[in-house]
Amino acid sequence: MTYLSAPIYEIFQAVSAVQQGSGALHRINEVLSLPTERDHPVGIVPVQRHAGPVLEFRDVWFGYDPSRPVLRGISFAVPSRGHIALVGPSGAGKSTIFALAERFYEPDRGAVLLNGRDVRFTPYDRHRAAVGLVEQDCPLLAGSLRENLLYGAGPAVSESELSRVLAMTGLTGVVAALPRGLDTPVGERGRQLSGGQRQRVAIARCLLARPRVILLDEPTAHLDADSERALAVALREVAAVCALVVIAHRFSTVRSADRVLVIEGGVVAAEGTHEELLHVDEYYRRLAAQPLHP
Ligand code: ATP
Repeated sequence: MTYLSAPIYEIFQAVSAVQQGSGALHRINEVLSLPTERDHPVGIVPVQRHAGPVLEFRDVWFGYDPSRPVLRGISFAVPSRGHIALVGPSGAGKSTIFALAERFYEPDRGAVLLNGRDVRFTPYDRHRAAVGLVEQDCPLLAGSLRENLLYGAGPAVSESELSRVLAMTGLTGVVAALPRGLDTPVGERGRQLSGGQRQRVAIARCLLARPRVILLDEPTAHLDADSERALAVALREVAAVCALVVIAHRFSTVRSADRVLVIEGGVVAAEGTHEELLHVDEYYRRLAAQPLHP
């Protein structure tokens, strides 16, 4: 019996390894059978233009942990042109609104609509092409400026469209000053360019993909006066060709918005023009009285 114990132990070990292996295989199969972005959902239709709001949140509830909602019945509509500013204290849910608009998450209740259609019926790639996102920090790829601008834009961008977008984003002079113009390498993470220039390159890249709406998280970092002015001009130009929603950290941006949404505790606490809100909303009045970034 003693000399059988070692082989029997080895057989037990082998059986156990096979069982573990089959458990792991079962879990792998479970993961593989989950719906992927591409599988989900059925009844997909292309993004189309329509006369109503380009982007709409209808009574949207969402929590990263569904038992603790971060957005609590958010409703608003973004017209197809113009500039909407989101303001509100840290943790109010502004970035979460962007995350749902981009479909990084789905609402727990309510719906997000693009061109009047529930976004769940649009393929993710088309949705993300229609809803451009420009984040605060815009690291660039280590290639030429041209490659960075055309990344994601598709092959059909003409030189005249490129020039027009560079002019809109105040980059014409920046490009002219670079040693090899658009073919100048931007350096690792775009270090050849300033933060303000990088963000305008990201806006230009976004525009070249011809989105219906651009979501922009305005930089909180200090911009020099020229960059600040150039960003303000770029935002005006963008809002003339598509819808622009900005998480605003500068009062100059808020003042130039067509509409301002005050987000507090996951709800739209107030909505109106700058002038209207000054009259009706206490939080907004306080915000306006202490301009963080005049
Ligand atoms: P800020 O101006 O500071 O960026 P915000 O208004 O954009 O704030 P959100 O970033 O949307 O607010 O955060 C809303 C709430 O959701 C906060 O309580 C935050 O801690 C939480 N939260 C944000 N992102 C996540 C995440 N990925 N996982 C879990 N909780 C998150």
